Amino acid sequence: MPLMTPEEFEESLKPLKPKVFMNGKRVESILENRNTRTVVEANKASYAWALDPASKDIMTCHSPLIDDVVNRYTHVSASREDLVKKAEAGTFTAENLGTCIYRCVGYDAFHSLASTTWEMDRDLGTSYRPRFLEYLKMVQTKDLSVAGALTEPRGNRSKKTLDWQDPYLSLRVVDKNKDGIVVRGAKINISGAFASHELVVLPQAAHFKGEEDYAVAFATPADAEGITYICQYTPYSAERDLADDLEELGNPVFGQRETSMVVFDNVFVPWNRVFHCGEYPYSVKLVTRFAKTHRMTCGGTCKVGFMNQIIGAAKLIQEYKGLQKATHINEELMEMVILRETGRACGLAAATRGAEEPEGSGVFLPDELMGNVSKLNVCNAFWRVMALAGDIGGGLIVTLPSLKELKNPEVKAYVEEFYSFGSDEPTENIMKVHKLLQNWTAGLHGVGTWHGAGPVMAQKIMLQRVIDYEREKNLVKQTLHIKDKPEDP
Ligand SMILES: Cc1cc2nc3c(=O)[nH]c(=O)nc-3n(C[C@H](O)[C@H](O)[C@H](O)COP(=O)(O)OP(=O)(O)OC[C@H]3O[C@@H](n4cnc5c(N)ncnc54)[C@H](O)[C@@H]3O)c2cc1C
Repeated sequence: MPLMTPEEFEESLKPLKPKVFMNGKRVESILENRNTRTVVEANKASYAWALDPASKDIMTCHSPLIDDVVNRYTHVSASREDLVKKAEAGTFTAENLGTCIYRCVGYDAFHSLASTTWEMDRDLGTSYRPRFLEYLKMVQTKDLSVAGALTEPRGNRSKKTLDWQDPYLSLRVVDKNKDGIVVRGAKINISGAFASHELVVLPQAAHFKGEEDYAVAFATPADAEGITYICQYTPYSAERDLADDLEELGNPVFGQRETSMVVFDNVFVPWNRVFHCGEYPYSVKLVTRFAKTHRMTCGGTCKVGFMNQIIGAAKLIQEYKGLQKATHINEELMEMVILRETGRACGLAAATRGAEEPEGSGVFLPDELMGNVSKLNVCNAFWRVMALAGDIGGGLIVTLPSLKELKNPEVKAYVEEFYSFGSDEPTENIMKVHKLLQNWTAGLHGVGTWHGAGPVMAQKIMLQRVIDYEREKNLVKQTLHIKDKPEDP
């Protein structure tokens, strides 16, 4: 069985030397830096769960590719059952981490690549699919963590790619030789890439004639020569840097959702890792199939897990305050549950209505309509859940003093007395739950949830493409016995 233990995963990162910058400084060790460490911990958890009897059914599956048990995050769905398990894994990982499972975007990119390389080979006679499957076999056999990178800086959005002054604002091929390709450009907002073994890179957008150099997809080791990570740095990063004890924080171990800009400065990629190069009509298929898979996850599965954290904290605060009988608070909690279950239902519907795409490829993708609806719903539902939790939590969510005060002899007694709500619960616990809600409601998650997997307009554009009103029109005609006009002779 190729599954790594969490300890082996950590060991496997040690020889890698990614070039990482954060807050104006080089990060010498991603294992030791407090903020990059959160990604290591989240990935590590995915290895622990795969070996844990309580979660291995969710986190592992049999891979026909290597005829062995693999981590689910390296598997390409080959049935609706696989898609349902994928949805369940998204919720399980999110509710246990309270942040991203950083193997998720790579997992979704595998689906898009498996499907589109098959189609390119069928239509064009290329040999991308066997190449991709060899790569995937290697990933499964070594049980690697793989990040996914699509989003690009882009130039002026009202102009076409070829009209941008800087031709590298979308990643492109700058050289090709008998051994491989050289790429230059950058990917932005990329989750957890610096603590992964590998990056899978897809185009961000459709490409057109003349844009062949931008139509490129490949895999690269995360520490390949020429790759630089410039990490996000937020007030939450600073808070983690300044903490005396990580237990002061809203999510002590796994932290916030960590991303970085990944710069590719003339990075060489050997041909056996190139899965799309110049066949521009297929860039859009790579993007839309990725989006189809990722929107089910971001809309209907991981945000369900995040909402569970928020609902749990709101409920605890209700109890600390003795508000169990407050009707409006019970209604607010119920509204949160309804929004959560609506999200879950859409995600599961996307999975159970999934289909093989293209037919014959053996790759199952979620239903496009339901996947986009689930992401669209969650964009608004998540803000609403944050608002409801904010109401229940009260101003303390944003006015809370540092948990350091509980160790400050000059004010400890005051803090313990006046933040106790007169309950039997230790004040430290009450403060920690408020801190967790601060993380969720006054942090990075609102905008993060909105934009992760694309902003709402991207889902609406996709929906406009798939919605077909013919059936509904015909239903009305049938009810009213309206006959179609006879066709012109
Ligand atoms: C927490 C987080 C994690 C992420 N992780 C990853 C990851 O691992 N891998 C990855 O590839 N990406 C990742 N992303 C990126 C995410 O997919 C993008 O943020 C998202 O697609 C939106 O792109 P953008 O941020 O560039 O915003 P923009 O595209 O700039 O959107 C801002 C606004 O401009 C509008 N807009 C943009 N272009 C046009 C246009 N041409 N015409 C009209 N309106 C337009 C949008 O609709 C929106 O209203 C992550 C994002 C977040 C927040």
